[in-house]
Amino acid sequence: MPFNTDTIVPADAAERRAIKPVVVYPNGTLPMPDVEKLRNARADMQKIDEIIVPPREGGSFTVPKGHFFRIVSVEGPQVGDLNLWNAADLSERFFSGKTRALHATHVSVGDRLWSSLPHLRPMATITDDTLAWYGWDEDGGGIHDVIGTRCDPYTNKLLSGGDYHHCCHSNLTRALGGAKGMSFGEAEPHVHDVLNVFMCTGFTRDTHQYFMKASPVRPGDYIEFFAEIDLLGALSACPGGDCSATHSSDTANCYPLKVEIFRPNVALLEDWPFPERNAYRNAE
Ligand SMILES: [Zn+2]
Repeated sequence: MPFNTDTIVPADAAERRAIKPVVVYPNGTLPMPDVEKLRNARADMQKIDEIIVPPREGGSFTVPKGHFFRIVSVEGPQVGDLNLWNAADLSERFFSGKTRALHATHVSVGDRLWSSLPHLRPMATITDDTLAWYGWDEDGGGIHDVIGTRCDPYTNKLLSGGDYHHCCHSNLTRALGGAKGMSFGEAEPHVHDVLNVFMCTGFTRDTHQYFMKASPVRPGDYIEFFAEIDLLGALSACPGGDCSATHSSDTANCYPLKVEIFRPNVALLEDWPFPERNAYRNAE
């Protein structure tokens, strides 16, 4: 708490605190994807495209529904900020907050990236993650979070007073603008809270503040996704590099990131239940 409010502690305070928590969205009610089936379909998949995202820059890519994509560490430890849109409709985009509520603060194999309201369907399913071994560390940190937002020049201005033009927010905006032929101003409102790929984060145990520590990612590591719908993606190679110390400046060592697109054996996915937009309709 930021300051002492001198509140009166009720007599039954300990009793109230001792009530057992319940998971908000109980495990077991969320339909689980058949990850094994997806992993079988990718056994002899062919790479059809790849892009390199330069350090402190952004890049865009498209993934057809039913294909896989990987974000790969190359050259050195580097964190990436990922945005996803329905390739045919920018109003349907990745919903970091609901993904966190449905799964956890950090995501890995079997978890899905959900889309914004009113669409609310899985956009992508995580099918592989070479950092899955990391789990939770002694500080409570984990990998690939959906708690951070993205580094942005407005917060940087607020906190440091400076102007920095290669924050993930700006990189993602330029990448989307380039992909869609939109100006910076037109693209900016479509940029949204990210999946922090490879980033190691958590909340401090004493003050519950958002923390980061050096990413354990090394060249060759990757996280792999199955596209449940046609996707447009944008990825920023964060100016924070491995996010061990700073971001929103040119101080940190930064490396490129690679995005690879794969076509699987589509015959094995003929009956895959590709998701429709959410069926709920407003009562008006
Ligand atoms: Zn960043």
